Amino acid sequence: MTQRIGIIGGSGVERPDRGFREEIVETPFGDALVWTGEGNNEDVVFVSRHGVAHDVPPHRVNYRANIMALRQLGIERVIATFAVGGIADDIPPGSAVAIDQIIDLTSGREHTFFDGGAMGLHHAPFTEPVCPALREAIVGQAPGFELPIRPAGTYICFNGPRFETAAEIRMSRLLGADVVGMTAMPEAALARELGIHYAGIAVSVNWAAGIDAAYMGALTLDFGALQAMRGKLLPLILDVLRTTDPRACGCTELGT
Ligand SMILES: [Zn+2]
Repeated sequence: MTQRIGIIGGSGVERPDRGFREEIVETPFGDALVWTGEGNNEDVVFVSRHGVAHDVPPHRVNYRANIMALRQLGIERVIATFAVGGIADDIPPGSAVAIDQIIDLTSGREHTFFDGGAMGLHHAPFTEPVCPALREAIVGQAPGFELPIRPAGTYICFNGPRFETAAEIRMSRLLGADVVGMTAMPEAALARELGIHYAGIAVSVNWAAGIDAAYMGALTLDFGALQAMRGKLLPLILDVLRTTDPRACGCTELGT
């Protein structure tokens, strides 16, 4: 078998297409539910971040079990998807961003493997939180799938599950954030701690709170746009993971 690759599917991408079977992977941090591919996809492992029924809220996702399961399965390359709110003017609902930076405002989550237990103490460098080789490949190969993608963007991660206030989004914009979501952290950091090349594609499913001045009510999530994009998104992710060998990129040498 060729090198196995991993996809973490966020909201709107809860399960892979046909040809995958469900598998429970036991880890020291709990069980993870993954889908392993068969036939043409036997190199692919798919993790449904919120569970197949989309019933695990962002603050209760067992990020450590998910990432450790991928590591135990021998996976070195992962691309994740995120449903996000657009903060920057050029990220309306239905547009995609290959994120390159993260601001972490989460709290109360199990956010590290290096908690002084069996894996000891280690400070993983995180200056560049996303694997540059994978991100550049996403940007370079997206046109071949007719998928417009913003080549970079800063993801600000709130704890949720409530949406943000208009003031919190104004603050986020001042801090340089382009999209807002609830799941990139601690996921990206945990991948770095285990030496996994990790990149993410954020898909805007709504404007962030207060951005659309005409809109004062509850936010509605436009998963229709995400579903429409899915037919291009997953093939792009597979193509990038299969054709990019990021091992020389150096992002994981900084880790364990
Ligand atoms: Zn890398």
